[in-house]
Amino acid sequence: TQLPADPSSENTRRQVYRACYSRVMPVTTTNPQLVAYSREVADLLGLDQEDCTSELFTRVFSGNQLLPGMDAHAMCYGGHQFGNWAGQLGDGRAINLGEIINCQGEHWTLQLKGAGPTPYSRHADGLAVLRSSLREFLCSEAMFHLGVPTTRALSLILTGDTVERDMFYNGHPQEEPGAVVCRLSPSFIRFGNFELFTARGEIDLLKQLADFTIRTHFPHLGRPKPAVYSLWFDEICRLTAELMVHWLRVGFVHGVMNTDNMSILGLTIDYGPYGWLEDYDPTWTPNITDAQGRRYCYGRQPIIAHWNLAQLANALYPLVGETEPFEQSLQKFNRYFEQSWQSMMAGKLGLTVFEPDTDRPLVEDLLHLLAAVETDMTLFFRQLALVPTAMEKQTADRCAPLHIALYQPEQLDSAYQDKLSAWLLRYCNRVRRDGLPDQERQKKMNAINPLYVLRNYLAQLAIEQATDGEYTLVNELLEVLRSPYTEQPGKEQFAEKRPEWARHRPGCSMLSCSS
Ligand code: AMP
Ligand code: MG
Ligand code: MG
Repeated sequence: TQLPADPSSENTRRQVYRACYSRVMPVTTTNPQLVAYSREVADLLGLDQEDCTSELFTRVFSGNQLLPGMDAHAMCYGGHQFGNWAGQLGDGRAINLGEIINCQGEHWTLQLKGAGPTPYSRHADGLAVLRSSLREFLCSEAMFHLGVPTTRALSLILTGDTVERDMFYNGHPQEEPGAVVCRLSPSFIRFGNFELFTARGEIDLLKQLADFTIRTHFPHLGRPKPAVYSLWFDEICRLTAELMVHWLRVGFVHGVMNTDNMSILGLTIDYGPYGWLEDYDPTWTPNITDAQGRRYCYGRQPIIAHWNLAQLANALYPLVGETEPFEQSLQKFNRYFEQSWQSMMAGKLGLTVFEPDTDRPLVEDLLHLLAAVETDMTLFFRQLALVPTAMEKQTADRCAPLHIALYQPEQLDSAYQDKLSAWLLRYCNRVRRDGLPDQERQKKMNAINPLYVLRNYLAQLAIEQATDGEYTLVNELLEVLRSPYTEQPGKEQFAEKRPEWARHRPGCSMLSCSS
C-alpha cells in the first residue's frame, strides 16, 4: 500500500479492522534528555557507551528521529480487562520502531513507550510520565537479572515536555515530566492480539498471525496445522506456568493481569502499577483500582493466568475445531505449575528434592507463619539460609537470624514464637535428612532467593530524585540490581526492609494506573 506522505495524519483514533498494525509516527519532543540506559541491552544491539551517550541515541530513542530501515507502527489487539471483554485496545502509547537482527542472530523488536498517540489511543494522550517510565525501565532490567522472563529496557529519556495526569483521581490534574522508555522483546504479541481477530470473526487474520508467530517464535513445533496449534497452546501454558512460579519466587505482583498484558512468549510485559511483596501477604496488590476485589493480588496470579489462558484457548479454537486439546492443556497447566512450584519451593528452602508428603505441609505451615506477623519475604529466605541446622543447636540460635526479617518484632507473642521454633525444628530435621551441609545449603539458597529487589520505596525515592533532575539513585539502583543474589559491600541499605516512614507514603505502596 501507498504510505501517506505524513503517516501521523493517519493517527486518528478509530476502530481498525482487518489489520494487525497501523503505521504511525512518534511525536517530536521539546528537549529530549537521557536519564539512564542499560549496558546489557545496549550490548545486545552492538551499541557501546559512546553510542549510548550520543545525541543521536537520545533523539532516536525518544522518537525524534527514525533511522533508515525503521518502520514505525502500533499493534492492534483487544483484551479482557478485569474479567470483561473490552474490545479493541491496541498500542495506545507504544510504537514499534522495527526489528533488529543482532550479531548473535537474535531478533529484537524495538518499541518506544510514551512517544505519542496512535489509532489505538482512545481517550488518552499516548504519552507516559517520568515516574511510570522509570519504574518500567528499572524493573524490566531487575527482573532480567533475577532470571525472570521479561521484556527488556534499553533507555529512559525525558522528553522535555510535560504531561497532565490526575494521579490522585481528585479532579486536579497536575503537570508531570514526560518520558519515553525504549523496550525490547523478541515479540510484543499478546493474548489479546488473537482474541480480537476471533471476536471480530477475522479468522483469516487470526490464522495469519498464528502462523507468523509459530514460524518466527516457535519454529521447533513444525509447520502450522491443527495439531501444531494445539502443541503451541500447550507450550504457551507451560511458559506461562513457569512465569507464575518465578513471580511467586521473587515476590513480584504484576497488578494488571488483563489478557492484553499477557505475552504470547510467557514474558513479563507492561510494567504498570506492579509492586514487590514486602511483608508476605498473598492478598496484597499494589493496584489502587483493584484494592476492593484484589483480583490480581500476589497469590491469585496463577489462577488468573489459567483464566487468561482459557480466553486464549477460546480465541485459538477456530484454528483447531475441537475443544479437547485445549482442555487437556489447561489441565496440564495445573500440573506444570505444581511441579515447577514444588522444585522452586524446594530450592528456596535449600532442599535437593521436594518430597510432597512431608514438604507440602512444611511449606504450607511456613507460609501461614509468614503471613501471621508482618514478615519481609525477601529477607526471611536470605536469613533462613543462615539458620544453623545442627541437632545440638539451641532454639534461640536457630531463631536469631530471622528476627531482622520481622517488621514489628516487639509485637511477637509467645504463641507465635513457639510456632516459629517448632517449624524451625522440623525444617532443620528435614535439612539434615536431605543431607546438604549448611554451607552448601546456604549457597544454593542464595542463588534462588534474591537479596536485592526493586523495593517499592526505593523506586519511589529514585523517582523523587529524578523529578528534581538528579539521576544518581536510578543509576545506582540499576547497578545494584544487576547482581541481585550477591552481597555487595557498601550497598547494604538497598537490601534492608522497608523503613517505617515508607509505610503510608504516596508511591511507596499503593499505585494508581494513571501513568
Ligand atoms: P494498560 O492497562 O496500561 O496495559 O493499558 C490498557 C490500554 O490502554 C492499552 O491499550 C494501552 O495502550 C492504553 N493506554 C494506557 N495509557 C495510555 C495513554 N496514556 N495513552 C494512550 N493509550 C493508553
Ligand atoms: Mg498494557
Ligand atoms: Mg500500562
